[in-house]
Amino acid sequence: MAELDRETLKREMTAWRRDLHAHPEFGFEEKRTAAFVAAKLREFGLDDVTEGVGGTGVVGTLKRGTGNRAIALRADMDALRIAEQSTAPYRSGNPGVMHACGHDGHTAMLLGAAKLLAGEGRFDGTVRFIFQPAEEWGRGALAMLDDGLMQRFPFDEIFGLHNMPGLPIGHFETRAGPIMSAEDNFEIVLRGLGGHAARPHSGNETLVAACALVTNLQTIVSRRLSPADITVVSVTELITDGTRNALPGLARILGDARSFRAEVSAEIERQMRIIAEGTAAAYNVAAEVNYSREFVPLRNDAELVEAAFAAARNVFDPGNIALAREPMTASEDFARFLDHVPGCFVFLGNGEASAPLHNSSYDFNDDGLVFGANFHVAIARQRLEV
Ligand SMILES: [Zn+2]
Ligand SMILES: [Zn+2]
Repeated sequence: MAELDRETLKREMTAWRRDLHAHPEFGFEEKRTAAFVAAKLREFGLDDVTEGVGGTGVVGTLKRGTGNRAIALRADMDALRIAEQSTAPYRSGNPGVMHACGHDGHTAMLLGAAKLLAGEGRFDGTVRFIFQPAEEWGRGALAMLDDGLMQRFPFDEIFGLHNMPGLPIGHFETRAGPIMSAEDNFEIVLRGLGGHAARPHSGNETLVAACALVTNLQTIVSRRLSPADITVVSVTELITDGTRNALPGLARILGDARSFRAEVSAEIERQMRIIAEGTAAAYNVAAEVNYSREFVPLRNDAELVEAAFAAARNVFDPGNIALAREPMTASEDFARFLDHVPGCFVFLGNGEASAPLHNSSYDFNDDGLVFGANFHVAIARQRLEV
């Protein structure tokens, strides 16, 4: 790509990214964002642009040459229910909603790649540009798949990326095998008999039982699972119906568990039920455990990781390309596509000064846009070599 084009495209992507940032939309509500994406893809001259895939998803298709292989490049479009702390002129104009995970940047990068590939080609086959809704809910990829994504827009493999605060701009990381975890949610409801704070023996309150249960749940990771398995069990909320002078008859414990294998997730649930029932029995209250699986683990295909590293060498300084040391215990619904085809998910630096993801001061760093767009282009050309 000529240097002038690169600068022009960078300016365009920055304008798109800031426009999207100023108009953030929550999962499955990305109507303006999807219309913006579809209008750009049509302007670039793609062979097909289909809206409304899995709710607000958009799929663009670009064909060149005679090759019958197809690859997919994926971006996510949704924002979060967080009130933005920013004085930027392009700050959120949708109160209480903001792009705090950089999906505005991911969308702008993939649009940039679509413009480059539509304009310059130099690949043989089909590229599917997948703009998915509702990644943060862990529902958007499934919605597109349930809407016939693989049948209507078939592809052989898929690539995606996420910006990474703390990693310098122009840096690239990925790894083969597990890279992001499953996320399970749980709710444990304890039911006893509330009563007067001055007469605890006359009721059967739930708060002391709940405190014991929160402590006992810590033994799932520390005493029940292998130290070789990376796992997290986090209690995040303890809510009771107690008040001044009144002991609670009801306590709810909510939380989140992370793991990298389905068997481990199943074992966390099994141990949680044993501990909840045993603890409840010891305190003479009843326990009900509700356990749900929100995200599945993301496992990168080893061959496609090699391909991604090779493509990255065309885009990043070789000294800035690294093997991610360990899997992350955060989750990504990109993993849902990998139930159907092999794929690879990579991380790009958002700068060392970046606020963390999901922080009210976070902002996507526009200096990363060119790297992301060029990586998409490089991997498409490599996998669909002329
Ligand atoms: Zn996020
Ligand atoms: Zn994200």
